[in-house]
Amino acid sequence: MKKLQDKIISDGKVLSESVLKVDSFLNHQIDPPLMQAIGEEFASRFKEDGITKILTLESSGIAPAMMTGLVLGVPAVFARKRKSLTLVDHMYTASVHSFTKNETNDISVSKDFLKKEDVVLVMDDFLANGQAALGLLDIVEQAGAKLAGIGIVIEKGFQPGGKLLRERGIRIETLANISSLENGSVSFYEEANI
Ligand code: 5GP
Repeated sequence: MKKLQDKIISDGKVLSESVLKVDSFLNHQIDPPLMQAIGEEFASRFKEDGITKILTLESSGIAPAMMTGLVLGVPAVFARKRKSLTLVDHMYTASVHSFTKNETNDISVSKDFLKKEDVVLVMDDFLANGQAALGLLDIVEQAGAKLAGIGIVIEKGFQPGGKLLRERGIRIETLANISSLENGSVSFYEEANI
């Protein structure tokens, strides 16, 4: 998605060869018109898939998930992150390790908001090692719901998550796929340059 790639180039900050900071439009301050365009793009890619619910992770997945839900006319549910969970009877839970933050969180979703009849679009802001996505897939599976695919705003294609998930036959739609963050600059894979 050209608009998103332009924004990453103009406003993204390369913190290291593996971490991109996008605090000014996605992870801290949010750019509403860009989120709207992102929601429209995901909605058009998944409009034939009978999606009934979007599932993401707090906090940075919420803005793109909500905009996509708005266009598709379905609710967006976000999994909550807690260090350790106690009262889990009415929750689906999974464990997610973040290599970026070097911490593991339990994530949880109330059983009220995900049912076996649901067709789920899983979404997140970034795809790196795939741990967050795998945690969300685990929750979809626990609910007995159907997975339609995964929508990712920014994929770091040089890290293993995308390959791992695609090898499982999961459909992943990525709006900007980064091939490298070397020498302080961002490069994208060709096929995402549309
Ligand atoms: P994964 O579980 O795929 O390794 O990482 C995905 C999660 O880590 C995302 O939810 C995102 O919050 C965070 N993340 C991973 N890499 C980056 C990065 O380069 N920049 C930012 N801002 N977040 C990242």
